[in-house]
Amino acid sequence: MEREVRVRFAPSPTGPLHIGGVRTALYNYLLARKLGGKMLLRIEDTDQNRFVPGAEDYIRQSLEWCGIELDESPWNGGPHAPYRQSERKPMYRQYAQQLIDSGYAYYAFDTPEELDAMRARLTAAKVPNPQYNSITRAQMRNSLTLPAEEVKQLLEGGEQYVIRLKVPRKEEVRFNDLIRGWVVVHSSSIDDKVLMKSDGMPTYHLANIVDDHLMEITHVIRGEEWLPSAPLHVLLYRYLGWEDTMPQFAHLPLLLKPDGTGKLSKRDGDRLGFPVFPLEWHGKDAETGEPTVSSGYRESGYLPEAFINFLAFLGWNPGSQQELFTMPELIEAFSIERVSKSPARFDQNKVRWYNEQYLRAKPDAELAQYLTASLQGQGMTVPTDTAEQIAALVKERATFPADLAREAQLFFARPTAYDEQVISKKWNAQVAGALLEFARQLPGAPDATPDGIKALLTQVLEAQGIKIGQVLQALRVAVTGAGAGPDLMHIMSILGPQETAARIEQAVAQLPTA
Ligand code: GLU
Repeated sequence: MEREVRVRFAPSPTGPLHIGGVRTALYNYLLARKLGGKMLLRIEDTDQNRFVPGAEDYIRQSLEWCGIELDESPWNGGPHAPYRQSERKPMYRQYAQQLIDSGYAYYAFDTPEELDAMRARLTAAKVPNPQYNSITRAQMRNSLTLPAEEVKQLLEGGEQYVIRLKVPRKEEVRFNDLIRGWVVVHSSSIDDKVLMKSDGMPTYHLANIVDDHLMEITHVIRGEEWLPSAPLHVLLYRYLGWEDTMPQFAHLPLLLKPDGTGKLSKRDGDRLGFPVFPLEWHGKDAETGEPTVSSGYRESGYLPEAFINFLAFLGWNPGSQQELFTMPELIEAFSIERVSKSPARFDQNKVRWYNEQYLRAKPDAELAQYLTASLQGQGMTVPTDTAEQIAALVKERATFPADLAREAQLFFARPTAYDEQVISKKWNAQVAGALLEFARQLPGAPDATPDGIKALLTQVLEAQGIKIGQVLQALRVAVTGAGAGPDLMHIMSILGPQETAARIEQAVAQLPTA
């Protein structure tokens, strides 16, 4: 029988979720939805030293903002609860014991000093990568080297110990990664990883495998940084007798800095001028303990749809020219086969481009709400239909919702300065005279739509024998102060004939025509 597809996102609450983590969650979600399976989230908090308060809540809010829905999680439960590893602590011990009983793991009693001494010895002997492994374990204090009676006494006497995996000396470990193809690693390069710590907490490796098995995970989709751990995980599945149901692995490509010089890190964002976190994060400086704030996509004015569309394309492509995909379209188009092996370079212009596309595609009524809210923040009110007209007009010049209010300023204040370049080239007595006549006739204009205003302007200019091209820029500067902006006829229509006329008169009064 086909197994139900079950994928998991397994973050550790050690700080804010980086966009690479969001991408991992997204690809898991897309695959689950595409294949009609389940998406679950498990909090991997076995390393209590790295626990950061607030991080779990941050993860939850980030996924909610992105629209990544969870079928099972610590927050909405599920058939395999609990979904926090710290709450599953009693479940892991028996599997470590099973590995010991079957000869695949052993007790190690070495003190931190003894471990340091071993590393020093190996370093002195020029061993490039000193490890506790199939060779060095023979010189250490563990249940493989000590007499059984002594081991029993140590255990009964409450001596501190860890449980280590007994990695074979000469064996090829292989698995078929869905993105990378066959991965083959020689076991001599794998160390005897600690599975259970002296405080009885499992390490990441043991807890991760036990949980993926118990939670019936079919696909492990995670970042490339976990690729080196995968052979160890394959050994664990084998030794625990779970090889038949071992999940398929898919290791996602790295995210690189915009210039391609290495991995995009948590520290890069604010230094390079863009967020690396979905939401703003209030943390503490690791060294000084001073409060720090890292910017987030949400607070910077990115729309979740744009952010998600952008992230989906960092390492995947649909094989067509289409770039804009809603979440349902991404689900439809997604496949692991089209995830790239090569690293993806972060492109800050691209994420801005996506935001522009999604912002401009919003209904004008919704854009008007952003605009009204920003203007209210500045103590200004504006009628709904005017807000809609303004939003529709200025949206082509906006990347973020806050840009709408900035672009709209010209409607609420008369110019206090005029673009000097345009004035020096285009302003003269003839132009000023023609514009003044236009202003005189405006209030009686039969039609104040953009087309009606244009007809009036054309008519006035014809009567004066001036071409429209000679005055348009000057008129724009007279009405708005600036040499460029949204469509001028629309601006005048929204301002209305009276206000437009008053602005032209102000410009004529203030600008010398010599
Ligand atoms: N807890 C690991 C992390 O923080 C999960 C790795 C995995 O998906 O196996 O990324």
